[in-house]
Amino acid sequence: MDCLFCEIAHGRVPAEIIHEDEYCVAFNDINPQAPVHFLVVPKHHIPSIADITEADQRILGHVLKIIAILANDKGLNENGYRVVSNVGRNAQQTVPHLHFHILGGRSMNWPPG
Ligand code: AMP
Ligand code: ZN
Repeated sequence: MDCLFCEIAHGRVPAEIIHEDEYCVAFNDINPQAPVHFLVVPKHHIPSIADITEADQRILGHVLKIIAILANDKGLNENGYRVVSNVGRNAQQTVPHLHFHILGGRSMNWPPG
């Protein structure tokens, strides 16, 4: 399968990896939209939140915990941060492998564009 984030998750395409374990990998976004902008992706290929199955649920709980740990490690807890997962065309998802954006280090607007 020709999936960029599968390639990164399995070490076949380089990225600035900041965390890796049995279930997920985290790396800096190549086009950062905030002073801190990294992505957390499950190693298992899931196209988006819309495709999550029963069997994926434990891994996703783990992914959320890793997000909290990494955000804290990056010093984001004091002022907060945003977690985003784009699904499909209207949200402008560009990589069809489930990923969570973690954005921090600046104040953000709501609603998003
Ligand atoms: P989305 O638009 O929600 O699908 O987000 C995809 C994200 O992946 C964008 O923020 C891109 O900047 C990022 N991205 C694309 N290619 C790479 C790469 N090779 N390494 C790191 N981040 C990437
Ligand atoms: Zn994939």
